[in-house]
Amino acid sequence: MKLLKPRLWVDDLSHIPLKELKTVGIKGLMIDIDNTLVAWDSAEPPETSIRWMEAAKKESFNIILVSNNKPQRVHQMQAYFHCKGLASAKKPTKSGLTKALRAMKQEPGETAIIGDQIFTDVLGGNRLGLYTILVSPIKSKEFWWTSIMRNFEKYVLKNLQKFR
Ligand SMILES: [Mg+2]
Repeated sequence: MKLLKPRLWVDDLSHIPLKELKTVGIKGLMIDIDNTLVAWDSAEPPETSIRWMEAAKKESFNIILVSNNKPQRVHQMQAYFHCKGLASAKKPTKSGLTKALRAMKQEPGETAIIGDQIFTDVLGGNRLGLYTILVSPIKSKEFWWTSIMRNFEKYVLKNLQKFR
């Protein structure tokens, strides 16, 4: 249960306290793509995401997009946001996130992972000792597998409410 608990839980990217993250020593951000930065079936990120990415860059965070999705999707968003990216990351396994850390030249303790899924983003991040931030998903219409996992997530989140 502890590994499923995010350090921070916010409604959308704009609620992430970038300046506070810096003061606790976070220098790098791993950012999930689908339903975190952009709706899974869209190539056009919402205004909130665009503005937030600008703010994160302005605070000079070391940014990498880390997605379990295909290279094509990651390249599309890399071109949009002009940042590093890692496709087929196999979250929550440690291998992909370790690769991302290496690409960023960052230590786990100075890196946050931001994503919409407990069983991939939060679990993977916690296993590596990253600062985990859960955001509410951008869109609810999803692949069948993701909707099944959402039911498990609802259960976990209900239990986590107590600690919030
Ligand atoms: Mg996602």
